[in-house]
Amino acid sequence: MAVRHLSDDDYLTIERQLGAHNYKPLDVVLARGQGVWVWDTAGRRYLDCLSAYSAVNQGHCHPRIRDALVEQAHRLTLTSRAFHNDQLALFYEEVCALTRSHKVLPMNSGAEAVESAIKAVRKWGYEVKGVPPGQAEVIVCANNFHGRTIAIVGFSTDPTARRGFGPFAPGFAAVPFGDAEALEAAITPNTVAFLAEPIQGEAGVIIPPPGYLRRVRDICTERGVMLILDEIQTGLGRTGRLLAEEHEGVEADLTLIGKALSGGFYPISAVLSNSEVLGVLKPGEHGSTFGGNPLACAVARTALRVLVEEGMIANAAAMGDYFLAQLKRLSNPMIMEVRGRGLMIAVEFHEQAGGARRYCEALKERGLLCKETHEHTIRFAPPLVITREEIDWAMERIEAVLTH
Ligand SMILES: *Cc1c(COP(=O)(O)O)cnc(C)c1O
Repeated sequence: MAVRHLSDDDYLTIERQLGAHNYKPLDVVLARGQGVWVWDTAGRRYLDCLSAYSAVNQGHCHPRIRDALVEQAHRLTLTSRAFHNDQLALFYEEVCALTRSHKVLPMNSGAEAVESAIKAVRKWGYEVKGVPPGQAEVIVCANNFHGRTIAIVGFSTDPTARRGFGPFAPGFAAVPFGDAEALEAAITPNTVAFLAEPIQGEAGVIIPPPGYLRRVRDICTERGVMLILDEIQTGLGRTGRLLAEEHEGVEADLTLIGKALSGGFYPISAVLSNSEVLGVLKPGEHGSTFGGNPLACAVARTALRVLVEEGMIANAAAMGDYFLAQLKRLSNPMIMEVRGRGLMIAVEFHEQAGGARRYCEALKERGLLCKETHEHTIRFAPPLVITREEIDWAMERIEAVLTH
């Protein structure tokens, strides 16, 4: 293929002309990445504080995951589930051992894992709990984010995610996040599951009150309701534990992982189950052409191994504490709150600040990439391999931009 030399303006123009405008990216065209760093087309270096929405927890282009991908790509990439492959069983074994799960359903994207979990709990509701046909209800949280498919945006409470996309699937009810009493009051005999993020990511790193998840776990157990925790963003080390549910010592009935299960290389997600729920799915009732393919499984196996063997989860806990403490020392009356757990951190501004976007633009000029979530919040979520020196480097830039 002939080499074409495009300017950054060319890239932006072509994207604007040919692409659907469903994102509003910062004006930076990235060409290379390594660890916490990425480089643009001109060779300028940036510290990545978004980590592809936590899909590159292990850092960009991690050499062990890259080698696993390349090695597997030479051997076998896709068989479909019509046949077995020699990676799937090993992925099952390793992910179950690590997360103490008993059953796994491999899918591709996060949204597919959420959809799959909803299908499974509905079927469980009819076949095991005895819910009358067509009556199953799933309770979700206000300000949730679980992906972009029709069913999922149908139970979103964000008008931007929903507007113009109906009609939507029935069978969902929303309660305030962090309010266990509201959940208890909303449960009916037809409730099959409660679906929640342990910390709401896209909503702006919303941390529920202490004890919330434990109370939710008890309520679900008492009322015969399956607890589905969406750990697609909070999971795999992001909050300083393998799974965020560990902070409160709870186990969900279904745990959803995705994003960093890919190591940033190749999409894979999974529904993990500690109970009978996934057992209701019989041959032909659910599937995915690419789900459980050997390339994804080889990548995911190494992505998990790297997280554990290279101490990334403990590093996320220690560096998260350090980063959060530094951010809390920022003095700017426009800052409303600084909050976080592990390396999932948010700085929220008062409305008078005029939106967080301009801070993100200014930080980009100084070599730090981050993104506003909604209008007034910046999320700082660097790869879990970040060092204290790199946080100090970031803080110099953040201080310069956020306190002037
Ligand atoms: C990103 C995300 C999803 C959706 O994952 P996709 O791979 O983009 O479909 C679902 N739930 C949570 C909590 C997420 O952060």
